[in-house]
Amino acid sequence: MADGERMYINGEWVLADGGATFDVTNPADGTVVAKVANGAGPEIQRAVTAAHASFSAWSQMVPKDRGRILLKIQALMEERRDELARLVTLENGKPFEEARKEVQFSLGYFGWFAEEARRVSGEWIPSPQPGKRYWVFRQPIGPVAAVTPWNFPATMVTRKIAPALAAGCSVVLKPASATPLTALAIARITEVAGLPPGVFNVLTTNRSRLVGAQLLTHPLIRKIGFTGSTEVGKGIMQAAAKQVTRLSFELGGNAPFIVFDDADFQPALEGAVAMKFLRVGGQSCICANRIYVQRGIAGRFVPAFIEAVKRLKVAPGFEPGAQIGPLINEETRAKVHSLVEDAVKHGAKLVTGGQYLNGDSYAKGFFYAPAVLVDVTDDMAIAQEEIFGPAAPILVFDTEEEVIRRANATTYGLAAYFYTRDLTRLVRVAEQLEYGLVGANDATGYTHEIPFGGFKESGLGREGGHEGIAEYTEVKSVVVNLS
Ligand code: NAD
Repeated sequence: MADGERMYINGEWVLADGGATFDVTNPADGTVVAKVANGAGPEIQRAVTAAHASFSAWSQMVPKDRGRILLKIQALMEERRDELARLVTLENGKPFEEARKEVQFSLGYFGWFAEEARRVSGEWIPSPQPGKRYWVFRQPIGPVAAVTPWNFPATMVTRKIAPALAAGCSVVLKPASATPLTALAIARITEVAGLPPGVFNVLTTNRSRLVGAQLLTHPLIRKIGFTGSTEVGKGIMQAAAKQVTRLSFELGGNAPFIVFDDADFQPALEGAVAMKFLRVGGQSCICANRIYVQRGIAGRFVPAFIEAVKRLKVAPGFEPGAQIGPLINEETRAKVHSLVEDAVKHGAKLVTGGQYLNGDSYAKGFFYAPAVLVDVTDDMAIAQEEIFGPAAPILVFDTEEEVIRRANATTYGLAAYFYTRDLTRLVRVAEQLEYGLVGANDATGYTHEIPFGGFKESGLGREGGHEGIAEYTEVKSVVVNLS
């Protein structure tokens, strides 16, 4: 579009005042795929005003009717799934087949929360005194500011806006500046589905600090739903303290993936490869970050893992058979590489990959050869920090007690995985891992029906499940005096 992709405020498609834009580039080849309106103070103000003005009518619509609109959004997203997936691959880089799966999963949040909207009920509490009645119920919290990252351009958006809209809240979404196109396409669908103007606004901008200073601390914003890094989350928490704005955070992770001697070999192997490399090439908060292998199985498991990694196809996302696309930008690639180099400097052995991929179809993108490191120790930066890329550190352990202690020795607590055929161990380990999501002989991640979120510095609150909609409500107690 000549004058740039417009943002969506109060049911209108608008440019930024003065016409400012920023570029969205394809990480596979560096081409500019769109120029997008670069919002600032005036647009933030308009978006918040629109969300505030639309809140009253939307929150009073009966939940079943709100649900009908959400179901329509779900159906339209499904109809346009491949179109949305193309945008995801274009701006995020992930393989097209993976993008299709993401979009298919993301739209399921509208279905789940359309139904949940009808179940936000309250209770009558027996009164300790005669002549009184106590009645407790939930109300939508008010206009919400949602901030999302680039790694799942569709899911991170729907996991927030579906419960917020279902609860009766209005939303101002600020998508990641690397991936605003999917969010804008979802907004177009909400418009077609009949969502009233102002209920959902998409503010595109690359001025993150301004968003922190003017959107998230706006007095009309009653709730912040943020997904991103722990570091940025902490800054938002400090700013929100000024007016005690409600927060829910989905932050970073450092997932342990534990293979016990008695694990079912093939599922454990496939699970480790998938959870390390096949979710946005390792750029996912729930990706395996540390792979712990028990000594008795290491001699068999580690070579098989290395062979499986060598067979992975790294390619631009639209190339048939691509399994790992480019990293999102040079900064991310350089960070992964520096963690690999640091580990080698401190005694780890790089057994495959671990270099930039250049030439041919890799020439202009941020491609990285999937790396496996052995002889890694817990004190290395690669085991302590969130890698967020295609590098797998392998650590060996001896006992169950030891690996639980080592797995829990981190400030993060988002996801953990372990494989064992011993049922009593399965229960013990699942109970002792200090993580919000535990995969026991499973590496498929989460689903709409269960709450998702982190312990410790990985987050606050939960998305999905019954909890997901509760996050967008306030509890009110009414004391009725009948005397
Ligand atoms: P990020 O924290 O840099 O950015 C996230 C979002 O916040 C973006 O929209 C960005 O523009 C915005 N932002 C940045 N600085 C801001 C500020 N000062 N004020 C307001 N907004 C600001 O994270 P990222 O690089 O986009 O994403 C990667 C991180 O997200 C990783 O740490 C990953 O683990 C985490 N993540 C967590 C989950 C989860 O569900 N827990 C899911 C996906 C990603």
